[in-house]
Amino acid sequence: MNILVINCGSSSLKYQLIDMENEAVLAKGLCERIGIDGSRLEHKPAGKDKFVLEEPMPDHKVAVQLVLDALSDPEHGVIASTDEISAVGHRVVHGGQAYSDSVLIDEKVKDVIRENFDLGPLHNPANLIGIEACEQVMPGKPQAAVFDTAFGQSMPEKAYMYAIPYEYYAKYGVRRYGFHGTSHSFVSREAIRFANLDPNNCKIIVCHLGNGASVSASINGKCVDTSMGLTPLEGLIMGTRSGDLDPAVIQYICNKEGKTLDEIFNILNKKSGILGLSGGISSDFRDVQKAQNEGNHEAQVAIDAYVYRVAKYIGAYTAAMNGVDAIAFTAGVGENDGVIRGEICKYLTYLGVVIDAEANKGRGENIMISTPESKVKVMVLPTNEELAIARETLALIG
Ligand code: ADP
Repeated sequence: MNILVINCGSSSLKYQLIDMENEAVLAKGLCERIGIDGSRLEHKPAGKDKFVLEEPMPDHKVAVQLVLDALSDPEHGVIASTDEISAVGHRVVHGGQAYSDSVLIDEKVKDVIRENFDLGPLHNPANLIGIEACEQVMPGKPQAAVFDTAFGQSMPEKAYMYAIPYEYYAKYGVRRYGFHGTSHSFVSREAIRFANLDPNNCKIIVCHLGNGASVSASINGKCVDTSMGLTPLEGLIMGTRSGDLDPAVIQYICNKEGKTLDEIFNILNKKSGILGLSGGISSDFRDVQKAQNEGNHEAQVAIDAYVYRVAKYIGAYTAAMNGVDAIAFTAGVGENDGVIRGEICKYLTYLGVVIDAEANKGRGENIMISTPESKVKVMVLPTNEELAIARETLALIG
């Protein structure tokens, strides 16, 4: 049984076709520049050569059709026809407070995705376009929505409420939602399996350290806190996002520089974080580390501040759960960068964390990086959001 996983952006569409018998990726690819000049499809079938198609894609419907054509093409394809696709799983960023689980898509679900356009302005409209494009090209095919916010829905009120007048929560749903939920959910389950923890008695912290970055705390597989908020801007220092900040900074810079709120938020989302702190070197960790190794002060400060913020969140979440059994690192930096992992763990010796320096050199696979005597198990666990979406979709079509 094959599941097609789709992650739709405003001008892009990423996909994977996964055979759920063995969870093997049959093909994956990306449509770029949808609706603008220079549209391009890059299709990678497993065991065959990459196929690139440069053809106009005026809208997502055309893009979905080209993806299906590529998947069933006699030469580059991996299936005979779309009948071999059992269902489609969509990544949907914001489910608001309506969904704490994945759902099969019907008109009501689409209404909820629409109602949450304000909360996920960059993603939800594109996610809905992808869903409707699939409906048009594959009418009647079951489709599931897997929400990035679903995992965070189990947070208690004390964790998700902001200390601002209650009416803003009541009227507009202003609260913390958390994002990267599919990844946090997948990795926390993987942690239970890999570390052989008791699923009914375990406290886990997952550090998703990619370009976007967030930390989650979960007890017995249920999220109790996570670092992103109403939007993905809150929490850790990220590639280009500031993370936590005194809101007064916004007014202060507005006044000093004569900038509008939109301009400031653009700076906080796209020009801050590692990029901003390093004085503009890069949002990519590898570039900033190179500069750090060459003695660049701003690069050093950017990395020190990044590590410090992650360590503080781990400390906070350990307190929130009154203990921690396992800490897992995932995503680009978390999976690949043993130096950053090691620096974060230096703050955690008070928890009895002991890192195996040799194991911590590994990357890109499930690795236990703590020693057997460490009081907390520390792991590298690669995330796989597409597989998580496919598994959720399969569970829904049963
Ligand atoms: P996204 O949030 O875009 O999915 P990723 O999870 O791909 O991001 O993470 C991107 C980040 O991972 C970048 O900052 C990049 O520098 C970092 N990264 C990727 N590979 C390595 C590596 N080998 N060493 C250090 N950092 C890495």
